[in-house]
Amino acid sequence: MSDAIHDALQRPLASLRLSVTDRCNLRCRYCMPEDEYVWLPRTAILTFEEIERLTRVFAELGVHKVRLTGGEPLLRHDLPTLIGLIARNRRVDDLAMTTNGLLLGKQAAALRAAGLQRVTVSLDTLRPERMLAFAKSARHADVLEGITAAGQAGFTKLKLNAVVIRGFNDDELADLVEFARGHDAEVRFIEYMDVGGATRWSQDQVVSQREMLEMLARRYGPIEPISGDGRAPAERFRLADGTTFGIIASVTAPFCRTCDRSRVTADGTWFLCLYAARGIDLREPLRRGASDQELASLIRGTWQGRTDRGAEERLGVADRGALYRIDSLRADPHREMHTRGG
Ligand code: SAM
Ligand code: SF4
Ligand code: SF4
Repeated sequence: MSDAIHDALQRPLASLRLSVTDRCNLRCRYCMPEDEYVWLPRTAILTFEEIERLTRVFAELGVHKVRLTGGEPLLRHDLPTLIGLIARNRRVDDLAMTTNGLLLGKQAAALRAAGLQRVTVSLDTLRPERMLAFAKSARHADVLEGITAAGQAGFTKLKLNAVVIRGFNDDELADLVEFARGHDAEVRFIEYMDVGGATRWSQDQVVSQREMLEMLARRYGPIEPISGDGRAPAERFRLADGTTFGIIASVTAPFCRTCDRSRVTADGTWFLCLYAARGIDLREPLRRGASDQELASLIRGTWQGRTDRGAEERLGVADRGALYRIDSLRADPHREMHTRGG
């Protein structure tokens, strides 16, 4: 099979986000504001062997970066076993996971031993009462314990993701920079996106990259951009004392032009874009007994026709509001951010 393939806009197939469950033990207001959801049927959830096989086919077509996500990936029973299966693949040179950290304290060492290379922990606030109000959980201390455990388990270059929302945590930017510095981590501030799941999104709650930089400059003085490879979603910056941080400006400065990412949901639906209305069913051919070649040719042909630029297209929408209302999300759980994996 050939090496990297490119889509219709010359973007390589390089990075895959694997959602291993649509379930979550938090209810972040920007992702899963409701208590109950329409869940993917259990029989539809891919087994570890199926995920490993799909990953292998993707890797033969050029994917070399794999990120496990969810829902909350650590709710998937026995995750280190899956990590071990993927880590054996020599084509995968970057194996990472995004987690809300609640269960990381118990699992960090086993994940590391299984071959996980990098961890990103979502940490929107340092104030437990804010997490209670915004994610319906009193377990803030468990997240902090998870971050400490990740460091102790040997995960370096730890990243902390914070979705910045006006009136919720936009007064904590400097506190999060300080916290990250103290934990040998780098914080990445994410603009609040109008993705599926964010049914309470409105433009006025978005704190733009420009505003974030202004707020931080008032506290720290001049901020210097760090030139990157142009493919990473986060733009990185350096304070005068050398501390670095990132901003993911998906709303005000989308990076679709260089997007090499796609996503497979826990039931094997492949999405070419976070905003795509529909995905491609890979579970059906997988369970029908399709050969690796057949799967590869389906993936290759689909990627070569990809023209998705979801976030850039949303920029042109007048009177932009939430992407979906709750009733239309309920009609298809694949539209949810917690199903697509962020
Ligand atoms: N549960 C894990 C976690 O929270 O880290 C992994 C899945 S979560 C869907 C992945 C990432 O998507 C998280 O960092 C989360 O903050 C981000 N996310 C979810 N909804 C978002 C939104 N409306 N705007 C921006 N980022 C969002
Ligand atoms: Fe929050 Fe992640 Fe769960 Fe969404 S999937 S509710 S972002 S913890
Ligand atoms: Fe990639 Fe779609 Fe996100 Fe643009 S909106 S960066 S094309 S996933």
